[in-house]
Amino acid sequence: MDDVKQLVSLNSYRIFEDLVRGSRTGISLSGMKHRAKAGKNIQALIDITSAWELYNLDRVSKKTEDTIKLFLAAGHAIEDSFDTIEGGLWEFTCHKCSNDEYTKGGVGTGKFVSSYTVLINGSKPCRCSGNYRWNQEQREYKIKALCEEENSQFIGWESTKGYANGESRFVWVCKEGHRRIGQVNNFINTGNRCLTCAQEAGDWGYYPDRVNEADNLYLLSFKSETEAFLKVGRSFDVKERMREFLKHYEVEVITTYQNCHQKIFDTEQDIHSYLKSLNHHYTPKVEFGGSVKECFKLEALSTAEDIFYDLQLPLGFIE
Ligand SMILES: [Zn+2]
Ligand SMILES: [Zn+2]
Repeated sequence: MDDVKQLVSLNSYRIFEDLVRGSRTGISLSGMKHRAKAGKNIQALIDITSAWELYNLDRVSKKTEDTIKLFLAAGHAIEDSFDTIEGGLWEFTCHKCSNDEYTKGGVGTGKFVSSYTVLINGSKPCRCSGNYRWNQEQREYKIKALCEEENSQFIGWESTKGYANGESRFVWVCKEGHRRIGQVNNFINTGNRCLTCAQEAGDWGYYPDRVNEADNLYLLSFKSETEAFLKVGRSFDVKERMREFLKHYEVEVITTYQNCHQKIFDTEQDIHSYLKSLNHHYTPKVEFGGSVKECFKLEALSTAEDIFYDLQLPLGFIE
């Protein structure tokens, strides 16, 4: 039976079509087998023929029987089923989709209307297909299910029109409370999540293929009407990086230090843990596009300046 589930090549489908025609035109079984042997996928063909015994024949009229055999030969599973409906169309029941999360969740059925042309090509009209046309209810159902698993929250669609396609955007709030805009395909298929959380987890900021490039460590001071703090971070382009911060704060460069990326990255990690161990860590009041992990209280200033001063000393220099 497992063999039957495998996709059958077009070649064996053609042989099978010959077989069905042969049976109509009265070619003997041995004659058909003889012709089948000429094909390359005899085993698959034999599998379909024997699996046919297992198909629920009671519900199939003799008229459609041959066509269904062709559908199976085209690669549909023996557990799928096919019924003719009005207008020359077919109702296809997928053995997977009839029992998937959407069917179970009541936002989809396991029955799909399709045409002969689609089915005979072995194409799926169901959610197994990459071309399946999802509706808003189903996409929302999936996004909300993922959010529930991850303790985040779906807020709503960005456009008043709601869901249109895989590129549609929606607002969601991550488990840390960061408000984000997500895109359907990126969220569901690629697994893209909160950028701010990713930065804080340290998933960002290290580039293994750029270890020898010139990189910069910076010590910045941030000031707004409501708060002031320091930030120790790294960037290949400090000015570019600062542009993001300037939207929320007055930013002053206290000092920078340049070296290769590997050295800068390692040093940055060391400084972060050192300042944190001294209880200097600070959590800003607004989400400003930078990592919270890199922010420190103003009282860390002299310690941070000392560290940067040491970094500038020539190698082997002992005070
Ligand atoms: Zn399916
Ligand atoms: Zn987050």
